[in-house]
Amino acid sequence: MKCRVLECGECSITQGYKSSHKANDMVAIKSKKKTIDNVVAHTDGKVIAIATGHKNKKGSTGIDSYGNYVQIQHSNGYTTLYAHLDSVYVKVGQTVKKGQKIGVMGNTGNSYGAHLHFEVRKTSAYSSLIDPTPYINSNLPNIEKTVTYRVGNGHWYATVSNGAIAGNQKTRIDRLQIKTKNAGKIYYKAHIKGNKWLPEVTKWDDTSNGYAGIYNNSIDGIAIKSEKGKLSYRVKTKKSGWLPYVSGYNVNDYKNGYAGNLGEEITAIQIKIN
Ligand SMILES: [Zn+2]
Repeated sequence: MKCRVLECGECSITQGYKSSHKANDMVAIKSKKKTIDNVVAHTDGKVIAIATGHKNKKGSTGIDSYGNYVQIQHSNGYTTLYAHLDSVYVKVGQTVKKGQKIGVMGNTGNSYGAHLHFEVRKTSAYSSLIDPTPYINSNLPNIEKTVTYRVGNGHWYATVSNGAIAGNQKTRIDRLQIKTKNAGKIYYKAHIKGNKWLPEVTKWDDTSNGYAGIYNNSIDGIAIKSEKGKLSYRVKTKKSGWLPYVSGYNVNDYKNGYAGNLGEEITAIQIKIN
């Protein structure tokens, strides 16, 4: 099966989750053969605990049973733990990226053959262990930021997310809606051609302040910021095509700028978040 905690990306589960073993044990699969592999971080995070110097010790209990291990804390508060490692490549306090090598599978601690013991916990505590099976190749809950948006001209065009193009790229737009997930509050506003910036919008609904824009008025500038999450966005205008991405606006401050050339009608937008 696909498995994002091993460098090769393929694993076989040798012992599943049960009340007496709240983890997944796995070996790597390379060229259809069971083998060892480098262990990589499941998700971006910070190393909060490691153990090194352990040898194989069958029958050991408690923390010693893990042998050499790494525990990483993620932005949603969850932790992942990787045990029985042969070598550990990271230090406590170190920031790691998803897919970064953190150690090599091994046979240290209470282990009967080289394998990775992979745990997911809702906090750092042992008592918060949950079934890791759904996450072996999937994101942890509430961790991936999403930006969803649509534009329109008298009616709405298709809703898109995370960098896709909204708008038909030919027709000027007169309305805009944006929302985010796992990125806190959203703030956005539109500039009307030949006129002014409209009031800031912070939601997405059908009321008059649930979107930015005025019916039948061309939008020629947009500004967006989110409470968490870094947004970058660009617009396409009838006159100039795609303009450069703008990004990094402080949540309290629009004065860094906006996307658009005032006077040029916008026909499409793209918004990314990370
Ligand atoms: Zn295990």
